[in-house]
Amino acid sequence: QAKELGRSRVSLYDRSIDAEKIDRKRLANELREAVETDALHVVYQPIFDAQTMRPALVEALLRWKHPRDGFIPPDLFISVAEENGLMDAVGNWVLRNACRDALRWPDIRLSINVSPVQFRNPGFDRNLAAILAETGLPPARLEVEMTETHLVTFPDRAQHIVASLRILGVSVALDDFGKGYSSIGYLRRFSFDKLKIDRSLVHGVSIDLETRRLCEATVALGRALNLEVTAEGIETEADGEIMRQAGCAYLQGFAFARPMSAAHITELLDDCNNGSDTDEVLRTA
Ligand code: C2E
Ligand code: MG
Ligand code: MG
Ligand code: MG
Repeated sequence: QAKELGRSRVSLYDRSIDAEKIDRKRLANELREAVETDALHVVYQPIFDAQTMRPALVEALLRWKHPRDGFIPPDLFISVAEENGLMDAVGNWVLRNACRDALRWPDIRLSINVSPVQFRNPGFDRNLAAILAETGLPPARLEVEMTETHLVTFPDRAQHIVASLRILGVSVALDDFGKGYSSIGYLRRFSFDKLKIDRSLVHGVSIDLETRRLCEATVALGRALNLEVTAEGIETEADGEIMRQAGCAYLQGFAFARPMSAAHITELLDDCNNGSDTDEVLRTA
């Protein structure tokens, strides 16, 4: 999807491959400027406790509203950042802003996506510790999401950094499980806390029996290895119900909540808390 968009953007100007490169270069320059002028923003998608259906975490998702081209999908501009030496700047911008926002939500945890480019940096754990200290977010409130790309490209260093993050008190989730090759061996070698099952696996789980069996087996695999399992990309209540029955600890998807502004998260959490107050009132009345 991101690729398609990249191509159609380019074709407005020129169809040659060269133009695509220039276009990505242009995008990189504009992205650099966006970071420097705080023209990016972060939205948050609630992740629900499957048992209580209360928000347990929020996942930070970066947004860039380009002044001329409008909304640019993160899949596209993150890869542009990675190719152009901007990922550390962009990644630190997200970490700082999201950790600061999360201070307003003491009852829930924050999950942040980290690019392999950030992760590859041997100082990544120290950098993260510094941002936690600077913003005042307790490490136990932070979770880092990584994809298996991290593990394939430099398994030894990745193993070391995962371990040092856990020593810091930050938990680590393997994101998009089931999307790529997803070697089961990684699950044993790395000490993850959590497995996030990719939405491509979950999609249609309530209408297709084989999909359901596959998801059930994947959840069982995670649980057998002592990992908490999140199902992402849940678009219908029925899909959510199946994943809950399969043993997922957490559910995330448009069926429950879309990514939203920090202000909206605060409202949502207020509503949840007021809801529970009402229950309390009803019980004691
Ligand atoms: P991800 O980490 O797997 O994030 C989940 C993506 O699925 C988000 O897309 C979210 O909006 C979308 N999503 C959530 N629920 C549903 C659903 O029910 N149905 C469908 N169709 N989609 C759903 P988004 O925000 O476009 O982000 C795409 C990817 O970009 C993310 O995938 C992540 O890999 C990357 N990304 C986003 N923000 C950051 C960031 O700050 N740093 C890094 N390194 N990567 C980021
Ligand atoms: Mg993620
Ligand atoms: Mg994901
Ligand atoms: Mg995904």
